[in-house]
Amino acid sequence: MVHGNRGRHAVCGALFAILLAIGRAASAGDSEGIRVPLREVPAPPGIPPPREPRLRLVWIDVLDSAPFAFRYASREASAILADAGVATTWTLGDASTVTGEDELKIVLMPGAANGARLPAHVMGGTPRGARSHTTWVYLSNVLWALGVADRAVRSLAPSDEATVARALGRVVAHEIVHAVAPEVPHSRSGLMADRMGRGFMLLAHVGLAPAQQAALRAGVHAFAAPSLEGAAPVEVVAGRR
Ligand SMILES: [Zn+2]
Repeated sequence: MVHGNRGRHAVCGALFAILLAIGRAASAGDSEGIRVPLREVPAPPGIPPPREPRLRLVWIDVLDSAPFAFRYASREASAILADAGVATTWTLGDASTVTGEDELKIVLMPGAANGARLPAHVMGGTPRGARSHTTWVYLSNVLWALGVADRAVRSLAPSDEATVARALGRVVAHEIVHAVAPEVPHSRSGLMADRMGRGFMLLAHVGLAPAQQAALRAGVHAFAAPSLEGAAPVEVVAGRR
């Protein structure tokens, strides 16, 4: 059973070394100032507006294996998190990007690393048991689950690129929940199931269950707090046909 995998994530150390080696990409730009319309009633003094938790995410396509994916995948993952009441800020990084303690790295790999002892068709993996500031997504197995040949990824029609990227975004959202709210278990179906098939990936709309959304919001609030990170078993989601 995929959930029971006890392998350690062999790529962690090397990847961290790469990511920490060189400088840091610029953060996303500030948003524009927004004026309050004249007829809008101002909030009573002394009552702060409700604070929406915000998660800072960095997309790192290590080998530039799917340059088209960031736009749609980030949009899909953000929509799923927005439904849960979590705002997102994305930065498009690369293998040299060094991230801050309040950021979560989404690392897109062309395939699962040899020797990582990950289960067959693993689409994503996150160190288990504690909050993680890095999660991995494996393009080749997302393609496999969708029935798209690996070699075709560079010559997909624009609509197929959007489909692949949206599926990646759903795997990313799944792994974000593991990284931010590690106490959330896999569910029997839906976005947090440990297997995700083509039919689910092609649905017009997917979302988290209310309890998963609440756990995610609480996790995002706590995410920037320091935590002990170390080698840990990996929580994974595998493709299904
Ligand atoms: Zn999982």
